Amino acid sequence: MTIFSKIAQGEIPSYCCAQTDEFYAFLDINPLVKGHTLCIPRREVDYIFDMEDDEIARFQQFAKHVALAIKKVCPCIKVGEAVLGLEVPHAHIHLVPMQSEHDMQFGGPKKSFPAEEMQQVADAIRNEFEKLK
Ligand code: AMP
Repeated sequence: MTIFSKIAQGEIPSYCCAQTDEFYAFLDINPLVKGHTLCIPRREVDYIFDMEDDEIARFQQFAKHVALAIKKVCPCIKVGEAVLGLEVPHAHIHLVPMQSEHDMQFGGPKKSFPAEEMQQVADAIRNEFEKLK
């Protein structure tokens, strides 16, 4: 089982931002900026482009709703989206609230925030996501 499957199942703790039967979203533990969120399918698949057309469409729709929720909570110009997947072999979409293009530099330094701040932002995103249902 991948580390992200364990997170989606609650075996490993995470700052949950949104969830459905099929998908799960949580804060990146080494964020580029506050509110940097990862969206994953609960089903284990490594490479996002191995997903079937209908599944990836639903996945993207989930990510869109999470991005709309992030935009309400985190001051930003736009929410950027990226797919890398070089570190964790479980498909995931990065959502990053951007003030500038520098906020999308994945090779650069990562940030760290106190647990209370992480919990607060995750709760606020989840609250906004629930309103979109
Ligand atoms: P990549 O596979 O290159 O897209 O990067 C994986 C991302 O997952 C990185 O940004 C990590 O900080 C993040 N990550 C790894 N383990 C955890 C975890 N336990 N909780 C939250 N984020 C994680």
